[in-house]
Amino acid sequence: MGAAAAIALLAVAVLAWLIGAPILRARRRRAAMAEPLTTDLAAHIARNVPVRARLPAELAARHDALVNAFLAEKEFVGCNGLVVTDEMRATIAALACLLVLGRRGHYDELHSILVYPSAFWVEDEVEDEAGVVEKRRRDLSGEAWESSRIILSWEDVLESAHRPNEGYNVALHEFAHYLDAEGLGLAAPPAASDLHRDSGTATKSAVRPLDAWAADLTTEFESLLDAVDRGEHTFLDPYAAEDVAEFFAVASEDFIERAAELRSAHPRLYALLQEFYGTDPAFW
Ligand SMILES: [Zn+2]
Repeated sequence: MGAAAAIALLAVAVLAWLIGAPILRARRRRAAMAEPLTTDLAAHIARNVPVRARLPAELAARHDALVNAFLAEKEFVGCNGLVVTDEMRATIAALACLLVLGRRGHYDELHSILVYPSAFWVEDEVEDEAGVVEKRRRDLSGEAWESSRIILSWEDVLESAHRPNEGYNVALHEFAHYLDAEGLGLAAPPAASDLHRDSGTATKSAVRPLDAWAADLTTEFESLLDAVDRGEHTFLDPYAAEDVAEFFAVASEDFIERAAELRSAHPRLYALLQEFYGTDPAFW
């Protein structure tokens, strides 16, 4: 075979892969989503993710489908000798999927979930004021630091999942960070026909730009900082005052676990999270 023919053949193969891979992936996802959740997985989820039982029927069916797709597509890697069980996979997938019930993306770029038996540590390089770089060790219960993987401590995931009304949930926290960093923007708003049923004009409602939304989120963050400075008791865990990213992740935990309370304590923040997640957990 001549060089030109070989190059042409290679180009055809690359093209076929480029076109074929997404089609195959979409087909696999549809097949996984059409499967019913096995009774085993459903039992683990019922025990560890009690909010699942409160979802309205339509969202519950969607949640099952998303969990199946998540389990079919993501790789779970046990670290420090941990053997990943179906309970771990089901629990982590169920918590992750609560956050994408109303969103378009389903963690499309996320490839693997690294699961440690308990809190793990990472080493950072920090520079002090004199410019001296030091290594600093931090203990973590979870981390979402790059687009292809998330790290979780199973002990912390399970312990926080078993206290479902406290607004503290390690898995929700890390998956919220992931979605924040993913940059897919806000959830698609409800169909225009639902919003403008009375006006008779079916104007298509647009998703507003992410930076306008982010500016409103920053305003809410700053009012939390003021409250912390004044020494007030805050509804949100004071860790939310760390920075806007932590504020978003902590508020997301409350959005799922203490929705009605969050809505009355911080109605504007609740509305912003509704805009991001495309769901209204206060009605679950
Ligand atoms: Zn965080």
